[in-house]
Amino acid sequence: MPEALPPDQASRHFAPLIQSDLSQLYSRRAARLHALAEGHDHAPYLHWAARVTEVQATLLPEAGACGPLAGGAIAHAGHCMGLLDRLIERLAQDVPAPVAPHLAALRGLAAAERLAATQALAAGRFDAVPAAIAPLLWAALSLQCASAARAAPLPPGGSAEPPVCPLCGTAPVASLILSGEHHGMRYLHCPLCESAWHMVRAKCSNCGSAADLDYLSFDTAEATVRAESCGVCRGYLKVVSLERDPHAEAVADDLATLALDDAVAGEGFQRTGFNPFALPG
Ligand SMILES: [Zn+2]
Ligand SMILES: [Zn+2]
Repeated sequence: MPEALPPDQASRHFAPLIQSDLSQLYSRRAARLHALAEGHDHAPYLHWAARVTEVQATLLPEAGACGPLAGGAIAHAGHCMGLLDRLIERLAQDVPAPVAPHLAALRGLAAAERLAATQALAAGRFDAVPAAIAPLLWAALSLQCASAARAAPLPPGGSAEPPVCPLCGTAPVASLILSGEHHGMRYLHCPLCESAWHMVRAKCSNCGSAADLDYLSFDTAEATVRAESCGVCRGYLKVVSLERDPHAEAVADDLATLALDDAVAGEGFQRTGFNPFALPG
């Protein structure tokens, strides 16, 4: 087991940080969102999230031209305002009727207001931004941060397994249990810079305790998506298993299982991360 090795040896056996190719990641996420939308109660929203993701992918060449941000410097939200303009333009070409008023509201915001709202999101002040437009601002900010994170030097790998992204400081959207080369290993996925960092399994991703973990799902114990709850800090985060479904994707599978959040929250646990398409209010 890699976690039993000293950090210097362990780092030779696995990557402490994984950055998937963004084009492939967006493509996989969009396809997964469309697939999960079939027969889903919230199908229109899942399709819309897929569409936003597809537009993010088309804007990748422009994000690359903005230059790197230092890791953690997400408050430089101004860099992504041009991307936001293009995102809005492209989404407006084919917008579902229920979303049209929100997109129009975003379009109607002055540049300074858009910047202020984006900076509020970057600072974690989610309640300062209307929930209907926040995911679109986040999509542009995230696209810029994800591109910048891939251009920036990686932090040195070590044994630290922080509860937040080691590059940008954001709380994870979910845990992923990988297949293939990193078979069975757990990585936490960052909803802002789209990096994933390693953390051993069977400990709370929030407080690190292994004393009182429980795994909840709606179907079998072999479910692709389960909520890992911790009786010590009373936090929970979902675990998405690529071993159980190779098409699973952190953001998509989390967004399609928000009903599980309601159930876990009903038992008194608080979510320790967030989804970019369901930002906290
Ligand atoms: Zn990050
Ligand atoms: Zn905990």
